[in-house]
Amino acid sequence: MAGISDAPFIQSLAVPAVCLLIAFLSYFSQVLFNHSTLDPGPLSRTESTTFNILLLCLWVSYFRAVTVDPGRYVFADQVIEAEGRWCKKCQAPKPPRAHHCRHCQRCIPKMDHHCPWTKNCVSMTTFPHFLRFLVYANVSLWTLSYFFWQRLYALWETRHMPAHLGPTLAALVSLAMSGLVCAITSLALGIMLITTVQGWVLNRTTIEGWEVDRHEANIGRGSRDWWDMTGPDGEPIRFEKVEFPYDIGFFANMAQAMGTSNFLLWFFPLAGNPKISKTGTGTGFTWEENGFNRKEGMWPPLDPEKLRRAGREWGISRRNYEAELEDEGLTPQEQLEAFKRRQEEDMRRRKRRQDVLLAELEEVDGFGSDRDDYDDDETNCNNAMRNWANSDGEYLRDYGVDEDAEEQDEDVPLVELLRRRHVGTTSYSDS
Ligand SMILES: [Zn+2]
Ligand SMILES: [Zn+2]
Repeated sequence: MAGISDAPFIQSLAVPAVCLLIAFLSYFSQVLFNHSTLDPGPLSRTESTTFNILLLCLWVSYFRAVTVDPGRYVFADQVIEAEGRWCKKCQAPKPPRAHHCRHCQRCIPKMDHHCPWTKNCVSMTTFPHFLRFLVYANVSLWTLSYFFWQRLYALWETRHMPAHLGPTLAALVSLAMSGLVCAITSLALGIMLITTVQGWVLNRTTIEGWEVDRHEANIGRGSRDWWDMTGPDGEPIRFEKVEFPYDIGFFANMAQAMGTSNFLLWFFPLAGNPKISKTGTGTGFTWEENGFNRKEGMWPPLDPEKLRRAGREWGISRRNYEAELEDEGLTPQEQLEAFKRRQEEDMRRRKRRQDVLLAELEEVDGFGSDRDDYDDDETNCNNAMRNWANSDGEYLRDYGVDEDAEEQDEDVPLVELLRRRHVGTTSYSDS
């Protein structure tokens, strides 16, 4: 996905290509049905009207999915709080559920993902249009598939007739070709619709789904639901199981995403979208939570792996990779012994080199010993390789997120936060 959306020719050609595909499937097939020798002949008036109304809705919702602004935060206040998340690229606070999009080059409210096919972010403001686009695209494709099915069935029924009495070769080739394109498009957009509706009902963006997977992988590494660690700045931090907080009931989830609880408007192509506002919840700055966690604002959960890297970057800890690589090809018994030996070494190193963070992580049963999910080998350590990927091999950057700007607050020592606050305030006063 990253490869596709990063290629410059895709970036400039994706939207025209989608328009071409819609035009081909909708109008070429109607010409084929109405002006060829294919049975059962031209579309009826009802069929034709229904199909063209669906297409109109499709064009309108696609246009709006492409052109509606994905949202922008404006911080009018001179005081910039270093509390909470902070975007180092925008030099501004990053409200919950926002992410810095590397294509849009700013923080996007409730960013779902940057869609190459709409050349726009799917976000708090564009989600309703994106969902309507997918719904109308799918319903149009199902209608078109029905028209294709009618014609294929008619062909099958007349299979014993002399071939020269049937449709022309050009009509048959056109039918096969457009039918195939319709089938492939239906499959791809069907999958997209299912995952998007799932995210809509659960109030979970694509990025948050990825975060849920990462959190489950991290929790699965320890034997308990929580453990204590030391952050890069020496502050004690508790890593614990966090429930996804934004699922507040399916109807409220759906109404929040569409910006209205009037469900008659949800699929109206000209209906609006949620507006960014500092007042009220679910409007970009604050989000209602379901109260399953011991306090609000715990999402996204801490990533111990990221925290440990942050510690390494800040020069406090350094992982003993040579020792860990010994695990390769050992029996479980030998691995256990190697693990215990490393633990002792770590304890010694802690005294020697202030390696607090590393030692505490190693105390958690097995944490960090299963290293398959993390491409973290120091021999080829670079920014792209060292982050977590889900089971589909997708990194956060594949959704358009600028991972450099995606540090957790805990990654940043207090002095850095203070420096940023100073820089941020200065640049705001200057402007
Ligand atoms: Zn940003
Ligand atoms: Zn974007």
